[in-house]
Amino acid sequence: MVGHLPLEENILGSNPSPATGNLDTIYPMIEELHFCDKSDIFPVEKFLQFGKGKGKNLLVVGESPALNGWIKSGRAFFTIEGRLLPSGRNLNKLFAPFELTIEQCSFTELVKCCIGNNRKMLVKCAPKWKGIFIKQIELCHPKLIIILGVETLRIFNLVFNTSFVTGEFGKFNLDIGFVSVLPIYHPTPIAPKNHSKNLEIIEIQKNLSKN
Ligand SMILES: [Zn+2]
Repeated sequence: MVGHLPLEENILGSNPSPATGNLDTIYPMIEELHFCDKSDIFPVEKFLQFGKGKGKNLLVVGESPALNGWIKSGRAFFTIEGRLLPSGRNLNKLFAPFELTIEQCSFTELVKCCIGNNRKMLVKCAPKWKGIFIKQIELCHPKLIIILGVETLRIFNLVFNTSFVTGEFGKFNLDIGFVSVLPIYHPTPIAPKNHSKNLEIIEIQKNLSKN
């Protein structure tokens, strides 16, 4: 017998272990998985990767966990076979000048539900995750938050009543003090121009910080 928890228990339980056994049985054609109505009992360390070394200074914020990545593998940006997803590879290219990788940074998702292709759910789920998201920032206590993607930023601004702009530094006011925010484009290879636009943002910000 293969020992595994039903998917919902696996996500909501304190054990964030990746799924084992026959994946077709565990994930039968799942399109969406919502935990937003149970956010009060959602473990705060779930879908939160703690940074290591200087990676502790940086919290990267994605949109929602990928079924083929974090949900199945238990590891952000990695498949269950341990392969780095293309978005993760692009982020690593972006962070290389700072001698950082996505595996070393703190990382979480704005929305903890898996929304599949039903992207309109993001804006409905996000307000319910506000409390957990703030607790996660406080736990990581980063110096800089990088928000991935124009849509993630739009929803972030809606939920937190902020007006951050892609490519520009801002300050996020929290109980732990101000944390710098830099929204960038989503590193997905589906939009190949995003990576070059992100390289430009990093270059401009590097030059600005020298002046
Ligand atoms: Zn939801």
